[in-house]
Amino acid sequence: MNGTNPERHDAIVIGGGQAGLAAAYHLARRGIDFVVLERDRRIGDQWRSRYDSLRLYSPAKYDGLPGLRLPMRGHTFPSGNEMAAYLESYAAQFGDRMRTGVSVDRLGSAADGGYEVIAGDATYRAPNVIVAAGFFREPYTPEFAASLDPEIRQMHSHDYRRPSQLGDGPVLVVGFSHSGADLAMEAVSNGHPTILSGRAHGQLPFSVDSRRGRVAWPLLKFIGSNVLTIRTPVGRKMRPEIRHNGGAPLLRYRREDLLEAGVELVESRVAGVQDGKPLMADGRVLDVANVIWCTGFRPDFGWIDLPIFGDDGFPKEDRGVVTSMPGIGFVGLPFQFGFTSMLVVGAGPDAGHVVSRLTNLRLGKLPSGRRVGEATPAERDRWPELP
Ligand SMILES: Cc1cc2nc3c(=O)[nH]c(=O)nc-3n(C[C@H](O)[C@H](O)[C@H](O)COP(=O)(O)OP(=O)(O)OC[C@H]3O[C@@H](n4cnc5c(N)ncnc54)[C@H](O)[C@@H]3O)c2cc1C
Repeated sequence: MNGTNPERHDAIVIGGGQAGLAAAYHLARRGIDFVVLERDRRIGDQWRSRYDSLRLYSPAKYDGLPGLRLPMRGHTFPSGNEMAAYLESYAAQFGDRMRTGVSVDRLGSAADGGYEVIAGDATYRAPNVIVAAGFFREPYTPEFAASLDPEIRQMHSHDYRRPSQLGDGPVLVVGFSHSGADLAMEAVSNGHPTILSGRAHGQLPFSVDSRRGRVAWPLLKFIGSNVLTIRTPVGRKMRPEIRHNGGAPLLRYRREDLLEAGVELVESRVAGVQDGKPLMADGRVLDVANVIWCTGFRPDFGWIDLPIFGDDGFPKEDRGVVTSMPGIGFVGLPFQFGFTSMLVVGAGPDAGHVVSRLTNLRLGKLPSGRRVGEATPAERDRWPELP
């Protein structure tokens, strides 16, 4: 499977997180020959490497992928490790079609048609490639972070695991996101005077942990999957906000919870560095011992050598299907179809849509123009699971 003798499949999935596994499920159900190429040695490592205290904001009932429930009571919130273990067991059903420790260096067009995927010395070819490599890949910190006094311990939320990484003294958490709220709560609970800077994108009127949260989840899920979508004006308005500012309302720790715990909330942004200390946009200079940057991530699609990206860095796609390059699809883009597209609960439906359109296109190219649901006995022999 080197450049002269590539390994050939009907479909290649790049990335074995929830989005890639959901794509694998739908490909397997249609009996399509595929492999999943995953950079990490172990499925679930993305979740294992998040901070120890993480509990998902979505309850177990909504954290499963198609065909296999998460083995927990419905309204409990899995930890990162529990989510990782679930994904690992989910992946096991695909056997040797899961290739871990394979990092894709390049996806491009193949000289003889279809697509070529290069991973180290190995080359793979397929007429269909689904990119499920995660959108939030590169931790982002503002450039001026480099000018902070080296005495100040600073880290991105991506590298934060536990409070023992913090030095004695005050903590500045930059970015009022879900993780910003979680980490500010953790810092203050561990005795650090804590400042949380930034503006939240609204909040639920109750915490997801509460009784009301339990009752409201089905409604939230319905709204996130059916109302806040690219099919409605309100969804189309929300999409750029989510895609570019990551704006989602606080679900667990809300303003009042943080204030009650003793966190100082400062709406002003961190604008730069003065004398080695964080300088706020309102002119305050903060004397802190630690800074945790909860400033989000940027996509990394530099390894995709196809002319499919718009000026905003997003692939030009229709519900995940790149119509200008037949056979190329994405799963796991924020707001790919709707608000839930970036959540576990959205991965299954989005992957189902992409796989069905890609495979229909492929079979649609047969001389008879037949589609997946109209397979011949010969096709069923080749793909026994075809519906
Ligand atoms: C702190 C935090 C809390 C969250 N909480 C929730 C929650 O409560 N509920 C919820 O539904 N969602 C939550 N999410 C959001 C979302 O579910 C996760 O971000 C999820 O991991 C995204 O899944 P994915 O499969 O799209 O991407 P990833 O999990 O990032 O998986 C992509 C995979 O692709 C692999 N990969 C990347 N590039 C390559 C390459 N070139 N070659 C081979 N493999 C590659 C990576 O190794 C990775 O395993 C949370 C996210 C964060 C950061």
